[in-house]
Amino acid sequence: MKKDDINSIKTLLSTPQAVVVIPHKNPDGDAIGSTLGLFHYLKSYGHQVTVIAPNDYPDFLKWMPEESTILKYETQKEKSDQFINEANIIFTLDFNDLSRIGDMQDIVAESTATKVMIDHHQQPGDYADYMYSDVSMSSTAEMVYHFIDMLDDNDKITTEIATCLYVGIMTDTGSFRFPSTTSTTHEVVSDLISKGAKNSEIHNNIYDTNSYSRLQLLGRALSNLKVIPEYRTAYITLSQEELNTFNFKKGDTEGFVNYGLSLEGIIFAAIFIESQQEKIIKISLRSKGEFSVNELSRAHFNGGGHTNAAGGRSELNMKQTIDKFISILPLYTEDLKQ
Ligand code: 5GP
Ligand code: MN
Repeated sequence: MKKDDINSIKTLLSTPQAVVVIPHKNPDGDAIGSTLGLFHYLKSYGHQVTVIAPNDYPDFLKWMPEESTILKYETQKEKSDQFINEANIIFTLDFNDLSRIGDMQDIVAESTATKVMIDHHQQPGDYADYMYSDVSMSSTAEMVYHFIDMLDDNDKITTEIATCLYVGIMTDTGSFRFPSTTSTTHEVVSDLISKGAKNSEIHNNIYDTNSYSRLQLLGRALSNLKVIPEYRTAYITLSQEELNTFNFKKGDTEGFVNYGLSLEGIIFAAIFIESQQEKIIKISLRSKGEFSVNELSRAHFNGGGHTNAAGGRSELNMKQTIDKFISILPLYTEDLKQ
């Protein structure tokens, strides 16, 4: 972030403000971890701070410090609108286009509050007054750490902040194994542990809270796994009926797509999950190496993300979506064929 911008933000934050912090729709560990980390930091300066998520998120995130104060726009619209209308500053975290916050899009776009974006996704939009956008970053949580550092406040990082930021970095890096994990990421994580983040406990809270039905659903997903070896591609489908059979809850399919990518020789993996409520097929895409699933998702599935991890959607039915997916693979022959 530019030094001038940091100085302006510092001035802005030198008196108490009404602040709203917003993660993207269907928030993940990084979205909730980074927003709550920033929430605790701003609170310590006496600002009035409210985190407003567009909708609900998985239970495995519902233990984080002050998580219970997060408003959900989907079910708490009136209260949320009031906070947004009264805000002087709006931080938008872990997304870079207002279309990513669903029904909150219009009221946030129309707000006259100063907008600050902190995000690591590709091709940022230009709605913000201050942009801290860096696609080389492991996670938005890591960026919040650097943001606090740039404000000369490293010593203000409490155990609560460290815990929240640790969750964001751990979940977005696949527990520190994706290529976005740098030596700086490890230095940040080391500092967070020094400041009180209980790494092993956090890992347990996030990953070792499986229900029996989630493991059964994983079993079904793995038996639905299909491989297209000539394009080094693997994909999984889950229909709404299958989700119902295994008592699907938000977050249950988190990480399933990575199993496809773990197959020897596979560099492109997808999961297609039917949502009867939204009348769409939700798509998660992952890749290894140079092949950009961000570009593929933007071009064909109305989505985006990072080079190696992106999401999207399809309004076709499952069979048509899979047919479309298979039909576009030849467009990427150069990247996918050996
Ligand atoms: P996931 O597959 O885990 O939902 O998302 C993978 C990455 O792509 C995340 O960084 C997420 O924020 C981003 N992403 C997911 N869905 C969408 C989408 O519909 N549009 C855009 N632009 N990014 C998405
Ligand atoms: Mn992220």
